[in-house]
Amino acid sequence: MNKRQITLHIAVSVLIFLILIGSGVMSILALLLVRIIYRDLFLTAAPLTLISVAFVASTVIGTGISLFVSRFFLKPVDTLIESVGKIAKGDFSVRMTNKNNVFEITELINSVNNMAEELGSTEMFRNDFINNFSHEFKTPIVSIKGFAKQLQKDNISEEQKKEYIDIIVNESDRLASMSSNILLLTKFENQQIVTDKTKFYLDEQIRKCILLLEKQWSKKNINLNLDLKEILYYSNEEMMSHIWLNILGNAVKFTPDGGTIAVKCYQDLNSVSVIVSDNGIGMDDKTQKHIFDKFYQGDSSHKSSGNGLGLALARRVVILCGGKISAKSQKGKGTTFIVRLPVTNQQ
Ligand code: ADP
Repeated sequence: MNKRQITLHIAVSVLIFLILIGSGVMSILALLLVRIIYRDLFLTAAPLTLISVAFVASTVIGTGISLFVSRFFLKPVDTLIESVGKIAKGDFSVRMTNKNNVFEITELINSVNNMAEELGSTEMFRNDFINNFSHEFKTPIVSIKGFAKQLQKDNISEEQKKEYIDIIVNESDRLASMSSNILLLTKFENQQIVTDKTKFYLDEQIRKCILLLEKQWSKKNINLNLDLKEILYYSNEEMMSHIWLNILGNAVKFTPDGGTIAVKCYQDLNSVSVIVSDNGIGMDDKTQKHIFDKFYQGDSSHKSSGNGLGLALARRVVILCGGKISAKSQKGKGTTFIVRLPVTNQQ
């Protein structure tokens, strides 16, 4: 029992004691009253009658006091039962006002209010996700259908034909990558621990990811500054590659031709750090607040080449690995992503 519970127990005991004393005192007063009003009767009455009068008076008075006091305790409990019932039926807008001074009841009311708020935001988030999901899937399908219809026409030039086919291929790629990202995200969100861990070199993995993106960065003549210290890491290699592919892919995507991307990784006593900086388009404060949200895309000029799931996925993997991911950015100057991972004891 903690201090608060002990205080509550003492308070309840004192209350019961006061009710008993109160009803005792009141019954004596009732007897005195009977004595004043029916003086003769009182003097001649048998002791049993007097005891009965005292008993009835103390019962009536005690019940009255208990009813009055229990209303004070039971009213918030009744409100609580009613509110929890509403929440169970799916009404998450319920909020209880707290007019009670008892700490435990105040705590209970606050917890139920917090629970309703959390459930409400989860519900809103779920609805948002379904809306975004439907929208993001519908857009490329509508576009594919539109260009396929154009291709059905007889009077289109070879050049237009090629252009429409390219659009259809790109939109199909986008749909395919969106489906696999959603599947991956759902899988990682339902996962609580990292499975299939092996030992691998993290610096080597980052180098491989950079190579996978070579087509994109060499096309834009991007300079790469690599400072990758050797790090032997113990985790799920395949899963971790999603972090680097997404961050590096974004750095390439949001850095204009001739720009520079610096990639650094090192290990100290407590953590492993991977830092990816670019001198690309950067982000304003509003964008920075939402970059890890599902389907969020800050820069409208690049909307066609992504689906806003990359960073949500990267963040989920980092969290699963027990690490942290953050971004620092300045519009027009560039962006730095910092990933800190715990040092694993198998390293
Ligand atoms: P996507 O890249 O598919 O749009 P992400 O989840 O990977 O989705 O990124 C979300 C948003 O974060 C991007 O749309 C972009 O606005 C912003 N962002 C991410 N990385 C960078 C970067 N290196 N430079 C500028 N903006 C970035």
